[in-house]
Amino acid sequence: MDLGIAGRKALVCAASKGLGRGCAEALAQAGVDVTILARTRSDVQKTADEIGARAGRTVAWLACDITTPEGRAQALAACPEADILVNNAGGPPPGDFRDFDRDTWIRALDANMLTPIELIKATIDGMIARRFGRIVNITSSAVKAPIDVLGLSNGARSGLTGFVAGLARKVARHNVTINNLLPGSFDTDRLRGTITARAKAAGQPLEDLMREASERIPAGRFGTPAEFGAVCAFLCSVHAGYVVGQNVLIDGGAYPGTF
Ligand code: NAD
Repeated sequence: MDLGIAGRKALVCAASKGLGRGCAEALAQAGVDVTILARTRSDVQKTADEIGARAGRTVAWLACDITTPEGRAQALAACPEADILVNNAGGPPPGDFRDFDRDTWIRALDANMLTPIELIKATIDGMIARRFGRIVNITSSAVKAPIDVLGLSNGARSGLTGFVAGLARKVARHNVTINNLLPGSFDTDRLRGTITARAKAAGQPLEDLMREASERIPAGRFGTPAEFGAVCAFLCSVHAGYVVGQNVLIDGGAYPGTF
């Protein structure tokens, strides 16, 4: 399927690996001029080169921390007229809410709620003026079904979700869409890190816990960043202009509800 977005400009945040990288790869394959960012210079440059080589086009990159005002200014300068914005950042740490002090909460809100809102604020008027815009926020299945040890994630991402639900409906008439992608369990460093911590605590081998976790999913496996990226690219395509303010769960069937 021709996604109809060749030549559009995309800023894909937190994309040197994992789900962000999957989104950047799929957009580059669709002919989009992609700019990726992550904090570690060598990693993000290497990823840009690899994606670019596969897609047969140049992928721009910058090293910055997107959760800081300076990082966001650098990102917006590197991709000044984004038609497509993929919001992403590292997830907050797990823990007992009794141990989360105010600073911990502010860090989580900054990374997973206020950073995407700031980037939307900086890019949306240009999208409205050009009568094309696609914004995809990478959130989590925890927004739909909270995960007990991820209270910071449940809270911060739900705040973003509520905000986006209102804004998406105000900008849709300008052919600007905002949607959220909710990953379940995807085989990335983040997932392996979480399961490694659990394996250490339980004194069990990592591979045993990985197998058990994947067998609990109806699909019988973890998702791949490529599968995630393909859905993202579709939401960014001309064909998805009528998909507005949705929370799209990609979890191999793990959420047990009908809706
Ligand atoms: P990952 O650790 O594999 O990759 C994270 C990427 O973000 C890396 O490129 C890293 O360099 C970059 N990054 C992190 N913090 C950054 C910052 N402040 N500024 C710039 N770049 C930054 O993680 P992932 O699995 O791809 O997860 C992406 C997001 O999706 C996270 O917020 C995670 O919590 C969430 N999520 C992931 C899963 C999963 O199963 N993998 C499930 C639910 C939610």
